[in-house]
Amino acid sequence: MNYYSTNDYAAQMSFKEAVIKGLPKDKGLFFPHEIPTLGEDFFESLPSLSLPEIAFEVLQPYVTPDITPEDLRKICGEVFTFQIPLVEVEKDVYALELFHGPTCAFKDVGARFMSRCLQAFAEPDRPVTVLVATSGDTGSAVANGFLGLENIDVVVVYPQFGVSEIQEMQFTTLGQNTSAVGIEGTFDDCQTLVKQAFSDEDLNQKKNLSSANSINVARWLPQMVYFFHAWGQWKKLNPDAAEITISVPSGNFGNLAAGLLARQMGLPITYFVAATNRNRIVPNYLETGEYAPAPSVATIANAMDVGNPNNFPRIQELFRHELEAMQQVVKGFWADDEEIKGTIKLVHQENGYLLDPHGAIGYLSLRQLLPELKTPGIFLETAHPAKFKESMEKVLGQEIELPEQLKVFQGRQKQVTDMPNDFAGFKLLLMQEHKEGTL
Ligand SMILES: *Cc1c(COP(=O)(O)O)cnc(C)c1O
Repeated sequence: MNYYSTNDYAAQMSFKEAVIKGLPKDKGLFFPHEIPTLGEDFFESLPSLSLPEIAFEVLQPYVTPDITPEDLRKICGEVFTFQIPLVEVEKDVYALELFHGPTCAFKDVGARFMSRCLQAFAEPDRPVTVLVATSGDTGSAVANGFLGLENIDVVVVYPQFGVSEIQEMQFTTLGQNTSAVGIEGTFDDCQTLVKQAFSDEDLNQKKNLSSANSINVARWLPQMVYFFHAWGQWKKLNPDAAEITISVPSGNFGNLAAGLLARQMGLPITYFVAATNRNRIVPNYLETGEYAPAPSVATIANAMDVGNPNNFPRIQELFRHELEAMQQVVKGFWADDEEIKGTIKLVHQENGYLLDPHGAIGYLSLRQLLPELKTPGIFLETAHPAKFKESMEKVLGQEIELPEQLKVFQGRQKQVTDMPNDFAGFKLLLMQEHKEGTL
């Protein structure tokens, strides 16, 4: 498969080049030149395929010839080592629980897949520095996915006051080949610093920089597996049903873009919901046709606090920049903090199901839109509720227990370099040599 830049259709990059570069020089996004479709028999067998099997079938055309079928099978087996259950929350409303991986958020899959691709491509004499801006969950998924890999360092850049205590512990206490920079600013500021670093000549001469944000094709593409798997599991329970809506709690819109790509490959999802918190750039666009990025606002669904969603150009590309075509498939929805809290409380009381603040938006969007769309619905539960322990406990008025994956972080020592939102200082820091756990 070759990839072009959304700013330059003529560009031809291999999968390997796209993974290593992360972002094209012209600041577009890499996008596959062709979108393969999967046959009837694949969809018929889908309900009985395992996650590694689905991943192999779906991803093979995108990584050929840079990753051999044998290597791809091995990678898929290493990445999908945990369950992704489809749980019925109430009649015709299902949660796809994406939080059973090592860092309890859906980004584990993409980060693990990417780390293994990058390692397969790394040259022994040119170590790679993976630079990643995070609004909460990316940092831990990436740091964890790359932890201990030789020849690759990871630098996590995050808003000092914009992530939960547990999220912060998950990427500031790992040491080894990982380090963290806390910026006095918002997630968008962090993302801007990282983008500046990629276009800075000196820095790129000195360091072999790679991005592990959801813009990287090796993180973006494996997310398609969720949607194929969700459909397969739902079909297993409802063999005669045809129409289905999937709601995707979104921030940078990588996950939704992956779902839409899966649909383009033939997956029969009727509608998608672009569900956001108060950072409602995309729902607004779907309603008015005006795309107006804005500074991000802080919400309790903080992994979605994004004011300039960096994967959105891929969604536009999938619909050939035709708003009407997009509106037919993608329905917008947003909720504020009060609605999120109310939903968490209500669903806990009524159904005994514990939503996290991100999944709560997905659930609520279905509650409101399904009567009109007239299909059953699946929402993505993108993080474990315990990752947001403080706000969840305030909402529920009771303690919630940490899963094993998160318990291990309690009492560990944080290692962070705090700094103002200023590129000159950030660059200086990156130019230094890496030492364990610090820059
Ligand atoms: C990253 C994240 C999202 C948003 O996903 P995008 O692909 O950036 O839209 C939603 N929920 C959680 C918990 C996340 O970590």
